[in-house]
Formats: sequence, structure tokens, C-alpha cells
Amino acid sequence: MFLRKRALERIAGEKVLFERRRGGDIRICVVYPNVYRLGMANLGFQAVHHIFESDPHVAADRAFLPDPDERAYIRARGERLVSFERGQPLGAFDVIAFSVSFETDYLNLITMLRMAGIPLSRAERAGRNYPLVIAGGSAVFLNPEPIADFVDLFLIGEGEEMVPEFIARFHETGALAGSERMRALALVEGAYLPDYFAPVYDGAGGLARVDYSGPGLPRVSRRLIHDLDRFTTASLILTPESVFGDMYLVEASRGCQWGCRFCAAGFMYRPIRYRGTDNLIAESRRGLEERGVIGLVGAEMADAVADGGGRLSPSSLKADCISPALAAALARNGNRSVTVAPEAGSERMRRIINKNLTEEEILGAAEMMMGEGVENLKCYFMVGLPEEHDEDVVAIAELIGKIVARARAQRRHVGRVSVSLNPFVPKPWTPFQWDAMREPQELKRKVALVRSHLMRLDVGVELDAESPREAYFQTLVSRGDRRVGAILARLSAEHRELPGEIWQGLKAIKREAAAGDGGFVDPDYFVTREYARDELLPWDFIDHHIEKWFLASERKKAHHERQTRPCDVTTCRVCGAC
Ligand code: SF4
Repeated sequence: MFLRKRALERIAGEKVLFERRRGGDIRICVVYPNVYRLGMANLGFQAVHHIFESDPHVAADRAFLPDPDERAYIRARGERLVSFERGQPLGAFDVIAFSVSFETDYLNLITMLRMAGIPLSRAERAGRNYPLVIAGGSAVFLNPEPIADFVDLFLIGEGEEMVPEFIARFHETGALAGSERMRALALVEGAYLPDYFAPVYDGAGGLARVDYSGPGLPRVSRRLIHDLDRFTTASLILTPESVFGDMYLVEASRGCQWGCRFCAAGFMYRPIRYRGTDNLIAESRRGLEERGVIGLVGAEMADAVADGGGRLSPSSLKADCISPALAAALARNGNRSVTVAPEAGSERMRRIINKNLTEEEILGAAEMMMGEGVENLKCYFMVGLPEEHDEDVVAIAELIGKIVARARAQRRHVGRVSVSLNPFVPKPWTPFQWDAMREPQELKRKVALVRSHLMRLDVGVELDAESPREAYFQTLVSRGDRRVGAILARLSAEHRELPGEIWQGLKAIKREAAAGDGGFVDPDYFVTREYARDELLPWDFIDHHIEKWFLASERKKAHHERQTRPCDVTTCRVCGAC
């Protein structure tokens, strides 16, 4: 009862900004594989739920990973996971549709199937009366392989056109037998059915080839929408419990023109697309009727938001985009804190990662912001990047020292300075996809080096460093192949959910792999190993419309400390995305 009561209280606290439908015959549960307050802050999840919800053939519901106290309650009583709105068992739906934005949530996806009493493996479910398990979202279109054994069908790419096509095909094929229906669903552009793709490993454990048995070609073309203005991506359901509960979120653009070589978003969403300014302003004004803060908007929105009496909340700003006008608009809107992401401390490292940002631009931006009333500064950096030396790591603390010195020289008040330090995680579809993650011990040493140099500054700096062990798990699920699924199933079976528990579980698996027990591949194989340039990569079957040679050439340029100019979509055709 306690679970239902909490769900009903949450539903009562929601404000739905679209007209709800009674729904059709196809029962679909749209699942966010993390807790409610994170799911409801995720624009991608809200957008895909709305697409399902608006289709006349579909009766949609939602489900979330239960909160920790709810999980304990469910386990203690042997209860089953149910949907959020109607309280239906997940096994009673026709389709369970996971929306996965973060690859670390792959573990939760498996745990949720387990809690729903649905057999984990596709093979065990085949031919039996279980829901079709599908998955989409940005994690999935980078590399779905770690969960390929648990999912019947993936939708690879942006969903605005693909999801309605999937629903239509599912609706039309209701009378077909299971295997025939799956072959028909496989023809939706962007659909990936892992059953048709069988990886074959060589004697050394490497991926030798993938045997294909489905219709058409063994390539999955990632879907993309060309005109963002045809679709609105903004808050659709507001709830105070969301981590962005005080904000109305609006998607201003998709992709990024800068091409930072570590950043998956800068490659997977190519080419960059913007929403029209009129459209954004209208959406922002609509948002101001609901909330005083507009989240995730672009710089061009500052005046419209200010005129509407609201406060603009920019996410991290690129330093060379901070103009005096923007600095003034942010200050006028009451911002006292700003986030800047130099990512690396030294000019050399910023050239290697293609940040296209000089030290003078960073110092100038900080000075401009501080001059306009911003007192608190948060800076994002990474450690463990390819080609990084200790001097580059020390340069992070030196850059903070220079920012503070510049502000003080201009008699600006310096309030709180915080540094967020993240270990480098190599991501598929980036020029650094072949690079290894540094050993956790080595990363701990680098973090300690930054900390010791920050302590020498004459200003208090808060250092928030992400755990190298968490980064290890993130790399495993980012770069793993289908064999990582067995590791995830084991972690889930042992209820290892917190980072420390996951790390202990991975250590046990490493020991078993070394002893040849359990059939596990050592996780280091996917994490701390540099992948060979000519190696078949687990995600190579996806066509992201970016040439592999282009990614390799960007990596070579990194090794020579050469930068690439930001995208100019009007003339450039170099990477294959335009
Ligand atoms: S073709 Fe050129 S402009 Fe287009 S995404 Fe690739 S690099 Fe950027």
C-alpha cells in the first residue's frame, strides 16, 4: 500500500501540460531506468512518453526504478514492480519501452526486468507470452551491446519520427506470428534486433566478425530529424519532485559545433541543429506561465526571459561565447553563479582535446562575468585524458589561481570557487573511442595532485572529484561488447547498486576471470585496454553517418596537438554527417 500511496501522491503533485487521451488497444509502459525525480527531469524521457501517449493506438503508462526504500520494501515482501499510473504489473503490457539516457542505467534496466518477474534473457522469453522489450535513448544509440541479450528490439537514433513508425508497424502486424512480426518490425529504419546479429569471437577473445541473419543489410542507420522546429521538446509534465522542479526546460539546439574529441554528444548528434528563435521565445514565454526559471536555453534567449520577468538558468557556458551583453543579461536575471568548462588546465591539453579555447579567452570571460555581479564560479575539468602529463594536471590549479588573481586585480569580489574534476571516460563514436581509461590508482594520484596544488592558492576552492571507480564502471558499459551483459546480470543478481558495491562485485569478477571461472571476460579488457585501430568495434554495425577514418584522423591530430575548426554546416562536408 505504501508504494501505491506514494505513486498517487506523486501523480497528484504533477501538472500535465498536454491533453491526455483515453488511449487505444496497445498497452505500452514507457520506462525510465532510474528514480522518479531523475526521470521527470529528463526531456528525452518526457518527449518519448508524450509520443506514445499521443498515439491513438496506444494506452501509455510510465514506470521508474523504485526509490531505495521502495526497493527494500518490494524485496522484503517479494512483490512485483508495477506501472506508475495504473499500478499494472509490467508483465501485463504489450510493450515495455525503456528510454535510456545514461549507460550506467543499463544495470537498472536489468534490475527492473528482474523486479517485474520478466525473464532477463531474450532467448528465455522467446515464444512465450511476455511483453516485447524495446529500448532507445542516447546511451543506446552509442552502444547497445552490453544489454543486447536482454532487449528484443532497439530503436537507434532520435525518436520523433521513428517511434510513430514503430507504433504503426506494431499495430499493422498484430495478426502475424512472433518471428514474422519481428522481421516486419526490423524493417523500421533505425530498428536493431540483436537476435539477427551473432558476434563471433576469435581464439584471443577479440570480436572476429558478426554473422547476420535478418532482412536487408547488416547495418543499422541511426535516425535523425532535420528540422527541430517541427517538434517541441520542452517540459510536458511539471512536478516539484523533479531535480529541476523549479524550472521549465526547453531544448534550444541539438548537437554541438565544437567537436571536442572526448565528447560523445558532439559527434552522435551531428550535424548541429538549432530551434528557430521565434519558436524558442514562444516556448519560453509559455514556460514562464508555469515556472520562474527557464532551464537549458541558449544565449539568445536571455532578453526574452528577462522581459518576461523570469530568471535564465544557463547550463555550462563556453567561455568565448560570453559577451558583455550576455554577462549583463545573466546578471540582470539575478544569476550570482556561473559555470565554465575549460575541461583542461593547459593550452597544450586544450589543443589535444580540440577545445578551441585559449587561456586569455577563459580569463577574459571570468573577468567579464565577475564584473557583472557574478560572484561564484564553477569550473569543469577532466583528468586522465590521452597524452596528458603531470604538468597538464597541475595546470588546472594554476588556471584557477590566474582566474582569481585577474578578478582581484580588477577589484571584483570573488565568492565561492568550485572545481569539478571528472576522470576521462572513452566513449564510442568519438576520436578517443580507441583510447584506454587510466587505471583507477593512477587517476586517484592525479586528483590528489590537483588537490595539493589547489590548497596552495590563497583562495578557498571546493574540489568535487568523481570517483575513478565509478568512471571504471561507466567505461565498461560505454565500450563493452555483448559479453558485458553477463557481468551486469551478475551484479544485478547480487543487488549491487551503490558504486562501492559495484566496484566490489567487479573485483570479484576480475578474480574469477583470472582463474578461468564463471566464463567472464576480465572487465579490464574493455576499460583499461587501448583498442587497436583496425579492430572490429562492438558498435561498428551502427551507421552514425560519421566516417570512421574521420574519427581516426581527429585522433591523429590530437597526437600532433592540432585543432580542428568548429563546424560550418553551410560549406563543410568532411565528416560525413552533413
Ligand atoms: S560535415 Fe563538417 S560541418 Fe557537418 S558535422 Fe561534419 S564536420 Fe561538422
